[in-house]
Amino acid sequence: MTKLGSLLFCPDCGTLLSLPNEGETTVLCELCDYEEPASSYDNFETTTRSHPEAFPSALRQKRKTQTKRHETYDQGTLVSEKCPACGYLQAYSKEMQLRSVDEGSTIFYTCASCKHGWRVNN
Ligand SMILES: [Zn+2]
Ligand SMILES: [Zn+2]
Repeated sequence: MTKLGSLLFCPDCGTLLSLPNEGETTVLCELCDYEEPASSYDNFETTTRSHPEAFPSALRQKRKTQTKRHETYDQGTLVSEKCPACGYLQAYSKEMQLRSVDEGSTIFYTCASCKHGWRVNN
């Protein structure tokens, strides 16, 4: 994860990630569908929110036409996993193939109690 001041960049393609919306547990990279846990933004001041106008409009237009097979709001399956934040023993798990099949996949967990999000690489 690259942190530059108050900005976060996608580790896969370097795209500037937008700030998470209220209640969302992950931030989706507009370019490659990489997901960053919203907890990475915990220390952020709300005043650092960047304006959409900061992006070239042509580029934004192009990104929006890309097909997304992603269900961002799907929490996943409830499994027995201990939350590192609050110690609750159940979390929602979601497996994602981020790159090629050879490089394995990443399992995203969201705590069923405090909604803390984290991920584990296979
Ligand atoms: Zn990306
Ligand atoms: Zn928790």
